[in-house]
Amino acid sequence: MKVKNSFIGNLTPQQLIELDACTQCGQCLQFCPVQNVKSDPAISPPEKIRVFKEFIKATEGLKATLMGPDRIDIRLLVDFTKAVFECTTCGACGQHCAVGIFTQRLWPMLRKEMVRRGIGPIGGQAKMPEVIRNTGNPYNLPLMDRFSPWFPDFVKIEEKADIAYYAGCTGAYSAQPMVKGDVLVLNAIGDPFTMLGPEEEVCCGFPLFISGQHDMLEDLVRRLVGGYKAKGVKLLLASCP
Ligand code: SF4
Ligand code: SF4
Repeated sequence: MKVKNSFIGNLTPQQLIELDACTQCGQCLQFCPVQNVKSDPAISPPEKIRVFKEFIKATEGLKATLMGPDRIDIRLLVDFTKAVFECTTCGACGQHCAVGIFTQRLWPMLRKEMVRRGIGPIGGQAKMPEVIRNTGNPYNLPLMDRFSPWFPDFVKIEEKADIAYYAGCTGAYSAQPMVKGDVLVLNAIGDPFTMLGPEEEVCCGFPLFISGQHDMLEDLVRRLVGGYKAKGVKLLLASCP
């Protein structure tokens, strides 16, 4: 398959330098949990970087510039996409990288490129935008159950306040002791605070960002920012990224 469009449109100059800086030393390999379980060389950080650089070379290297883009094996593209989406994005490889590559940001941007090409995401991740659009959360749980199962009845939420609390989907649906604790601490402090309602407090967009599906991100952020602005919020406390 001849691939004409650039592979680097989603990458920052620093990320391009990082791709170039990988020495293929393998120091990160022992820290990768997926590599440890699967023993699949394709998922290793240096291999993902090497293959992605092959894509760049085929489309934007000197030969490609002078004579046109090279053929890219579709199988290689599919295998690369699988490897880049099977990564947990834990960032352990970056923390132990000999040259300090910030892999926790690099992998999502490589995912974004594969999504742009219509090859990613893989598996259930592809359903997330629709699920978030329908329920406001990535877990496909009822919107009206966002706060009611855990929010303490006696805690007062102001209509407007300088301070707001954002529970986030993971806190509200699956880490309820944590968010309940946050609210109890805020209540004990005694400063008035506000929250968006269950229809307004949508997903922060992190699951979409990390899976390379960025189309809805701006809309989610605008909805949240608009909601907090309308409540006169100056300080936002959040339990979710
Ligand atoms: S971020 Fe991905 S490649 Fe790096 S150590 Fe974690 S699972 Fe492995
Ligand atoms: S430690 Fe860094 S430079 Fe070495 S192979 Fe891993 S990503 Fe590349």
